[in-house]
Amino acid sequence: MKSIKSIYKIGNGPSSSHTVGPYRASLLIKERYPDARKITVTLFGSLAFTGEGHGTKKAIQEVLPEAVIQENSIETNLPHPNTMKFDIVNKDGSTESIRVFSIGGGSIRVEGELSDEEKEIYPEKTFREIAGICKKNDQSILDFIIERENRDLKVYLKEIWRAMQDAVERGLHAEGILPGELQLSRKAKLLKEKRCYNEPSDVTMNRVIASYAYAVSEENADEHLVVTAPTCGSCGVLPSVLYYMQHDRGFPEEEILDALAVAGLFGNLIRTNASISGAECGCQAEIGSACSMAAAGLAALYKLDTDQIEYAAEIAMEHNLGLTCDPVCGLVQIPCIERNAVAAMRAISSVNLSRFLSETRKISFDDVVDTMYRTGLDMDEKYRETAHGGLAQIYRYHRKGNK
Ligand code: SF4
Repeated sequence: MKSIKSIYKIGNGPSSSHTVGPYRASLLIKERYPDARKITVTLFGSLAFTGEGHGTKKAIQEVLPEAVIQENSIETNLPHPNTMKFDIVNKDGSTESIRVFSIGGGSIRVEGELSDEEKEIYPEKTFREIAGICKKNDQSILDFIIERENRDLKVYLKEIWRAMQDAVERGLHAEGILPGELQLSRKAKLLKEKRCYNEPSDVTMNRVIASYAYAVSEENADEHLVVTAPTCGSCGVLPSVLYYMQHDRGFPEEEILDALAVAGLFGNLIRTNASISGAECGCQAEIGSACSMAAAGLAALYKLDTDQIEYAAEIAMEHNLGLTCDPVCGLVQIPCIERNAVAAMRAISSVNLSRFLSETRKISFDDVVDTMYRTGLDMDEKYRETAHGGLAQIYRYHRKGNK
């Protein structure tokens, strides 16, 4: 398994697969071919279907302003649903063609190559193996992570946490309309400030956490800087829960960084054994993974034991199984923004359940991750980030004046 660092990447929204991935792929091509005479980029699969609403072309043009960008939504026999082909004409007239896959969470893979970010640093691949080691060595999940990762993980996580907090804070102060034809107004500020008369404390907690999730997700939809956790579309879940714990409940930053590490390990396991890409496995792979990560992180913050942490992460994923990806108008707004807030609350409920019921469970985290992957592969393509099914389809149907 790769470093936890590869789960958290700072980049511009709105979609890790559709903006951060293509942006990084373009940087790589620019680096390799600084003198290219002409570059043609062809977007396939989900990048061709929803690239427009997700800002893919803009992300590529930011790095390769002269590139010709075309879409090919016909070809179906693809090695990955998010495939880009770069055709390069060199200075001397020779040509080269490279396929790059945006494999989720902003990570990229060049066909036939192994990149630095794909270096394996964990020999373990499943949670069962990790839990076994923790038990044998009488160590916590956090101790296990620290043992495997470089010492600079903490420094990296500090930078990540700063970027996450910045996104919450910017989002809470911003107002106005989000880009795109939905003309959706930002709601985070209103949600944070709109305390109801005689509001019970649990409602206040949910409202405040939701406002943080909205803040980050709206920043993402506005194409501002966010952190993949594990993706851009699901970037509001984990920060909202942890921001609440630090700023409203007084947990020290040092412990929040530890929670981020544990959450990252669970995201890493999901990416290794299944997928964190909506184009590959639907929204269960994005929001389900984020919810699972937030539950694991929060359980660790509460100092629950290894079993309870695993159970919290398992519950959080289990009840997102089958969740489809159907972004209305191809924008990462509906259902995405609200879904981040709901997932944050679900993560907290999962931790609350795991405190009491971990000994009675029958399903392991590894099982639920495997199930998510199989379910994702069974999912019709229209529910995998193509904006051709579900809410996206119904919305289009009604907009045409149908009743
Ligand atoms: S529906 Fe889920 S997977 Fe699809 S774009 Fe929105 S957040 Fe991402």
